[in-house]
Amino acid sequence: MNAKERQQFEKLLTKKRDELLHELGLIEESTFNTSNRDSTGDNSSYAVHLADQASDFSEREKAFHFASREGRYLHHIDEALRRVKNPDYGKCHSCSHDIGLERLKAVPHARLCIKCKIKEEEEKKKQL
Ligand SMILES: [Zn+2]
Repeated sequence: MNAKERQQFEKLLTKKRDELLHELGLIEESTFNTSNRDSTGDNSSYAVHLADQASDFSEREKAFHFASREGRYLHHIDEALRRVKNPDYGKCHSCSHDIGLERLKAVPHARLCIKCKIKEEEEKKKQL
């Protein structure tokens, strides 16, 4: 993938990251808007506490958020933001083929092409 395309995906990832941080209450404006806080449990006081520290949250807090679905998503986005600096971004980690722009636009943090992703899901199902 060329540098210009990667730049676009970097922007997209940064935007998604910001949206997610809002959802997690890690950016202050959304902290007191509790109406959209859903099934993540009774962690509202924790979120208020986090807001004091705004964007610079510690490893321990990251670990806490990693336990939630949104937290894992944040982790994947952070990882993708590192990978997007590299010309290998957009290549499948399993078969090295291009993941494809359409898939990356929908899932910019994707590490696998759709074929390998389906295979991985099937392997997971077998293990259950
Ligand atoms: Zn693949």
